[in-house]
Amino acid sequence: MSKSADSQRCQLCQVVIESSPGRADIVQFSNGPQGSRSKLWSRVCQYVTDPDRQRICINQDSEGRGTEQAGDAFPDAPPIDLGNT
Ligand SMILES: [Zn+2]
Repeated sequence: MSKSADSQRCQLCQVVIESSPGRADIVQFSNGPQGSRSKLWSRVCQYVTDPDRQRICINQDSEGRGTEQAGDAFPDAPPIDLGNT
């Protein structure tokens, strides 16, 4: 009996979090690359301060999202233009 990947949408943050057994959850942002729950937290969910909205957000559980990783709070680097001019 194997449990397949499961996905949940955060109605507040508008991202999809895919959970699969034995793997870290994957957050699919509406645009840009995939990330982790800790990344979602540092970029979006930590700014949710209203208790009514926090109830809607599915990424408010500190145990579920794990510790923040270096770079989580920073936007992904834009493509580097090496200036072939
Ligand atoms: Zn959220």
